[in-house]
Amino acid sequence: MKKIWSDNMEWSELYNRKSKPRIAEIKAYMSPDAFEAFERFNEKLLNDYNLGYVLPRYNKQKGWFYSYGRSGYILIKEVTFNSDYFSVEDIHIHNVDNLSKAIDLVDTKFHDGFLVRYAEFCEARRKRMKENRLQKSKSTELKYKRNCKWCPKVSRSDIKRLYNSDTKGMLDQELLEEVGLAIYVRCKTSKEIFDLMEQGKIKCLACGEILSGEGELTCKCGLKYTYHAYRKSYRENNMPSGAATPIFNKFVKNWDIARSSQVKMLLIDNLIHEFHVSEISGTRGRPVGVNLIQGTKSQIVKLLCDLASGNV
Ligand SMILES: [Zn+2]
Repeated sequence: MKKIWSDNMEWSELYNRKSKPRIAEIKAYMSPDAFEAFERFNEKLLNDYNLGYVLPRYNKQKGWFYSYGRSGYILIKEVTFNSDYFSVEDIHIHNVDNLSKAIDLVDTKFHDGFLVRYAEFCEARRKRMKENRLQKSKSTELKYKRNCKWCPKVSRSDIKRLYNSDTKGMLDQELLEEVGLAIYVRCKTSKEIFDLMEQGKIKCLACGEILSGEGELTCKCGLKYTYHAYRKSYRENNMPSGAATPIFNKFVKNWDIARSSQVKMLLIDNLIHEFHVSEISGTRGRPVGVNLIQGTKSQIVKLLCDLASGNV
């Protein structure tokens, strides 16, 4: 190869930050003896220690320099170049005859717990990658969950206003219809969706299209879902289901045929005072209000207490 630089030009001037030298260029720059030793050094590290060079880096003073290690974990921080020698940290190697000094350094460092530290490094990296994957899948899941807009629960203040009007003997008919219908739609939709999910299907919550399949599902209206995120969102939103399902179904059936306001009010009153009862142990669990009324469990329990004591 033709030398394109003057013989006294420094390595760091020759290849600047923007021009990383290839191995042929290192060869052209160094004396044949020094390059032969450098090649031998590379072979030895690879064959005897399974070490290769990682991430060549640049600084102004040294120019491009090499580090040696295993899969990104470094044992020898700096191998730098001069025209008639290369340096392994502070040891200058002019030819194969004094290569052993550099190999001794590598050997000492290698046997000073390198493999243990390397294993720890790999383990930490594995954990980090797992954590990253988890974060990524969580944020993807969130994206799908945002498309799950379930029919709304009833507000606590609406329930209070309704009971208030009833207590005063002036039942708010309009509010009664509104609250009853919201509960009715939520119970009915929930059952329909639960039955679909049991068959591996989901219903688009914007346009009603039925979708099924693996992975990302794109509805004709443009919304995207996954079955998994959909089902999770259904559960997290406390859509009416689970042990109290017969209670919700009964409400739907009775609301369909109820005519008088008194009956409708009674249906709502009976419903929101029900509880999930374990089929196995028979123990009373959460009030079904958590499936129908906005707020935390304790806010709903307090509301039910207030209603019972007439304190609304
Ligand atoms: Zn749709």
